[in-house]
Amino acid sequence: MRHKDRGRRQGGAPAVGNLRPVDFEFSAELDQLQSTVRRLARDKVKPRAREIDRSGEYPSDLFGAFGDAGLLGLCLPEDLGGSGAGILGLTIAIEEVAKYSNAAALMLLLTRLPTGPVLIAGTDEQKRRYLPGIASGTSRAAFGLSEAQAGSDVMGMRTRAVPDSGRDGGWLLTGTKCWMSGVREADWYTVFAKTADPESRAHDSITAFIVERSWKGVDLGRVDHKMGVRGVDTGELLLDSVRVPPENVIGEVGGFRLAMLGLNSMRPIVAARGIGLAEGALMYATEYVKQRAAFGRTIADFQGIQWEIAKCAVDVEAARLLTYRAAALADAGKFNKEHVPYLSIAKYHATELAVRASGLAVQLLGAAGYMEDHPTELWYRDAKQLTIVEGTSQVQLGLIARGVLDHDLWWD
Ligand SMILES: Cc1cc2nc3c(=O)[nH]c(=O)nc-3n(C[C@H](O)[C@H](O)[C@H](O)COP(=O)(O)OP(=O)(O)OC[C@H]3O[C@@H](n4cnc5c(N)ncnc54)[C@H](O)[C@@H]3O)c2cc1C
Repeated sequence: MRHKDRGRRQGGAPAVGNLRPVDFEFSAELDQLQSTVRRLARDKVKPRAREIDRSGEYPSDLFGAFGDAGLLGLCLPEDLGGSGAGILGLTIAIEEVAKYSNAAALMLLLTRLPTGPVLIAGTDEQKRRYLPGIASGTSRAAFGLSEAQAGSDVMGMRTRAVPDSGRDGGWLLTGTKCWMSGVREADWYTVFAKTADPESRAHDSITAFIVERSWKGVDLGRVDHKMGVRGVDTGELLLDSVRVPPENVIGEVGGFRLAMLGLNSMRPIVAARGIGLAEGALMYATEYVKQRAAFGRTIADFQGIQWEIAKCAVDVEAARLLTYRAAALADAGKFNKEHVPYLSIAKYHATELAVRASGLAVQLLGAAGYMEDHPTELWYRDAKQLTIVEGTSQVQLGLIARGVLDHDLWWD
């Protein structure tokens, strides 16, 4: 990896004894976190996954179980009620949960997506007011960036904030945010709105706000009927002249960069949803082909099948390394432009892998894999969401290419 900020070595090679090795092991604490969540996922998430998909009902029991296990505050600092396990801790937890249910994994992801901008640029007062409730599970939040006409092209957003003549420094927000994950359960929202000329495409025309669900003018709109990841709704948030006090502006007025910093730091977390899903799918299909008889052998005896399993395993391990590195970068505060390609590569690779691995699992089970008797068809439907959310695969490729063109990702 190229670090522009790392000082160039002067003179000859350092003594070998002074070299710090690259560490591929988790700390004892992270190891323990992984085993705890692995057990919880097997015992509590796995038996519920199909029913959550079928009913589409929010799994409050799992939210409670995550709260009891201290998983809702993994990436929040200890002085705000979290455990300080960081983005890497949350990544490891989500990987385990996503082996069985991506809806349950999304519940964990939502402890970071809307809180990210507050953690990065919020005031102490905002952090004290809004974050401890997330860690304890007494409140939930959601993230509102997209609009019907402005997904990848967020600068096209029409939600508008105008100065509130009734309150110095206050704002009036009007507009509709869409496809918002967890919108119905949330108590507060991180919302982005245009604070300058609505036609402006300048980055400093957009500002982030904290908006509470109970405020006048805040309402829920349509709820989407989704192909997968059912159980955690996506839907519209309607804002009608909502009065937002000055103390609920996150960062600076015109601080659109915050949306990108927040999303950059999320890449390993969304990647973990893909890795867990791919691991679950590959393990399930492998066990199946080992016992499925055909042509006087098992399906697993065919070399063609073994090579598919091997290629998928290579993909999974590559995704894990990319994602843990991305999480370590994000935890070190390295989620600005220079580090974007490393973060985007992890998201791109892991989420595309989820689609490939779940497709392979359906294929390896044949007709059985297409039926609801097995979780493979559910994983296949769930996986597709991951290459769209939080920056599509094409958007990630654009960011990676920009990194190479600008030599942020360069090998010389
Ligand atoms: C299940 C689900 C949950 C979501 N949750 C949230 C949420 O909680 N909060 C939130 O704010 N949003 C959320 N979203 C919205 C999501 O972030 C957007 O769908 C995403 O940013 C893409 O925007 P779009 O759907 O408008 O696609 P478009 O931007 O219309 O893109 C359509 C296609 O064109 C491609 N494309 C676009 N621009 C380019 C380009 N420059 N070069 C090459 N190809 C391009 C895209 O990759 C895509 O394939 C969610 C979406 C889904 C499906």
